[in-house]
Amino acid sequence: MSKLSTIINLIKDIISPKICYSCKKEWHFLCPQCLQNIKKYNWFCYNCKLKSDDFEIHKKCQKYVYYEKVIILTHYKNNLIKKLIKDSKFYSRQEILNDFWQYLSTLFLENEWVINKKDYIIISSPMYFFRKIVRWYNQSEILSKSISKNLEIDYNFKIIKKVKHTKQQSKLTKQDREKNLENVFQINKKYIEQIKWKTIIIVDDVISTWTTINEISKILKENKVKKVIWLVIASD
Ligand SMILES: [Zn+2]
Ligand SMILES: [Zn+2]
Repeated sequence: MSKLSTIINLIKDIISPKICYSCKKEWHFLCPQCLQNIKKYNWFCYNCKLKSDDFEIHKKCQKYVYYEKVIILTHYKNNLIKKLIKDSKFYSRQEILNDFWQYLSTLFLENEWVINKKDYIIISSPMYFFRKIVRWYNQSEILSKSISKNLEIDYNFKIIKKVKHTKQQSKLTKQDREKNLENVFQINKKYIEQIKWKTIIIVDDVISTWTTINEISKILKENKVKKVIWLVIASD
């Protein structure tokens, strides 16, 4: 962080101090102690929901999906988490994400043995450009950029584009979901060489439906990406 932005943040903190949503102590919106008290996800395989070290998708489960790891911090069912994530979507409460990108960075390093950072690229979950304009800012992009800076891993938000608006996946049947996603995501041809044999980390606040994460992972794999890891704050 630059000196100027540090000073600006300091002033902002003095004017409106961060208060933990749970214990009301200062300096965090969700303090580390309160995060400890919330039920966090234990290691499991996102495909079969059974135990698996480091959130790794079991070898036998990898036959059905295009990703290798889905790392999830906590449960979306928790009302405190739900409120924090909802509030982080407002520009004025953007700083809630500061706590989350730090927790996600740590969680990532705990669950992935990184030998060479150059083998990794961080991206954010693709959002249709029109929605991005309406929403003013994209919290998934802020999370990814901050994690990228913190872990010193390259970030590129242009690798995958969402080229069509889609109906909300959760409201559709399984068949309609697959149809709804046909030709929605596209790889940016400019970066095909850059992603070859790399591990792509996709960061998001809440995990999308299985069909969405599988579709995005599939496109990456079709373009010779070695490994796909999802890193998210919460899931149901
Ligand atoms: Zn607290
Ligand atoms: Zn499994």
